[in-house]
Amino acid sequence: MYGLILQIISFLFFFLIVVIYFSKKRINTIETKLYSLLLVINIIGIMLDLASTSLALFNQSNILLNPISKLYLIYLISISLLFVYYTIYISYSQKFSIEKKHFYFLIVIIGVLSGICLFLPLYNFSEGNVVYTYGASTTFTKIVGAISYVIMLFCIIRNYKIVKFKKYLPLLAFVLLGVVGAFIQMVYPEILVITFTITYVTFAMYFTIENPDMKLIEQLNIARDQAEKANNAKTEFLSNMSHEIRTPLNAIVGFSQALLEEDLSNNAKEEVQDIIMASENLLEIVNGILDISKIEANKLEIINTEYQLSKVIKELITLTKTRIGEKPIEFKTNFDPSIPEVLYGDHTRLKQIVLNILTNAAKYTKEGFIEFKISSVIKDDICRLIISVEDSGIGIKSEKIDSLFTKFDRLGVEKSITIEGTGLGLAITKKLVDLMHGKIVVQSVYGKGSKFTVAIDQKIVSTTSLENIEETKEEEIRPINLEGKRILVVDDNKVNLKVALRLLQSYKVQVEAIDNGFDAIKKIQNKEIYDLILMDDMMPKMSGTETFQKLKEIEDFHIPVVALTANAISGMKEKYLSLGFNDYLSKPIEKPELNRVLTKFLK
Ligand code: ADP
Repeated sequence: MYGLILQIISFLFFFLIVVIYFSKKRINTIETKLYSLLLVINIIGIMLDLASTSLALFNQSNILLNPISKLYLIYLISISLLFVYYTIYISYSQKFSIEKKHFYFLIVIIGVLSGICLFLPLYNFSEGNVVYTYGASTTFTKIVGAISYVIMLFCIIRNYKIVKFKKYLPLLAFVLLGVVGAFIQMVYPEILVITFTITYVTFAMYFTIENPDMKLIEQLNIARDQAEKANNAKTEFLSNMSHEIRTPLNAIVGFSQALLEEDLSNNAKEEVQDIIMASENLLEIVNGILDISKIEANKLEIINTEYQLSKVIKELITLTKTRIGEKPIEFKTNFDPSIPEVLYGDHTRLKQIVLNILTNAAKYTKEGFIEFKISSVIKDDICRLIISVEDSGIGIKSEKIDSLFTKFDRLGVEKSITIEGTGLGLAITKKLVDLMHGKIVVQSVYGKGSKFTVAIDQKIVSTTSLENIEETKEEEIRPINLEGKRILVVDDNKVNLKVALRLLQSYKVQVEAIDNGFDAIKKIQNKEIYDLILMDDMMPKMSGTETFQKLKEIEDFHIPVVALTANAISGMKEKYLSLGFNDYLSKPIEKPELNRVLTKFLK
């Protein structure tokens, strides 16, 4: 009697789990479907077990006992085969596609085996509340059970290295408990363990591998990993593209710059200058796309170093003046002299932020003024830089200000349609400001002008105040005569080598060009003497960086080596300098930069 009560309680308990399971939101996979089926079949099994116990207890000679026992054997066959199928599925679904037709095949097998079981003779008698069955039907069921265990064990042993072991644990428990259960049943037939072990394992599966909530989370994690992979692939692709675009651009800009030195008609000169400007715009777009994708993939790092603020400001002024060009705009500057001169922070990013808003001011202002102002608030060792750029340009409509920092959003297209831009600048600026824990605000009156203010904290290194920043005159590029000097250019790309040779022509230097690092090392080992080496980084077989490391190992090697690269990622200069290169030139090679490097090392 107690046995029956316990069976009823476990039935109710299991029933509760089944209700909870089916009332939850589930993902639609074969595993989940199989588990649902397992639950349903098992509850039928428990009911059959319950029915045969009740019959044995209350009405021992009932003619229903035999069919119920047969149904119970069919239940055992079905559940064993479902477990086998479940095990095969999680073991091999990654290698082979397991489809619906396989499932129908399983149903057919269950049907055939159940038919045989029904056909074979079965005898039973009951004693107390226990029903004892024997005969060919029982033996047949035992054989099916044993074969199922063997198949499951085989799958688990073959695949435990590739499948998460956690997934196998309940299945392994099913096999082991099944074997132990069968043994107990044989020795003590009055103890009913088979249904109990199956119920226990199905129950354990709910809390381990088949929990619907956990499965949903797992699915979400997989989706997130896939999205991350796709995003990384995109960044990688963009980074490669940017490199690939820069290489032909190097030829376009390089040869155009060289052409400017030729005796050309004014018209032709203007056209060449337009080619250079268009290439620079293209470069800006490529860099913008690369930056935004890096920021979105969380790959953009803030690299803090000590830097001189006045140097950054000077560069910004020079670049803005070039941007303003011939337009009737007064460029006013105003810098708080109490700002400390040496700060600690990411000056490359700071420069990028301010340059973006200065460039926009120059782009969207036809006439009037642009005022570039920096003030500071100092607290302990932190200097809050308050940088503002005000212009008398076209202004921004108030309703558009909110979407100003969204990427690809170009406002008032009707007004700025003739001004080239991608709508990436401010999106990047905002993200960089956020990365540096700063703030950016915009004030603007449509038709009158705008003011962008950025506040960023930087650490103070030395308290010496900002020196008087002289307005830098645009440096004139006068070719310097470097007769007698020898330069070695290493680049795997033939066109790039041609560009370098052409650009260096006007300096009257002796240039030797080679297309791989191995030859460079050989030349130095053979004691050939050069005054400077220009080394491309991305070369097949041996990169520029590797070549440089090998060169440094050669005794008495003191030739300055300048890294040459089409890698557009900002922060590259710092990377190459930290690797020990003496300087850095980015492709496309800009004439003023080349001039600076040659003057620095050869004059
Ligand atoms: P773009 O490449 O189009 O310049 P940005 O993200 O830098 O992209 O700027 C987004 C839009 O914000 C611009 O298209 C322009 O309409 C507006 N904008 C930005 N700065 C100014 C400014 N100083 N004056 C007027 N409009 C501006």
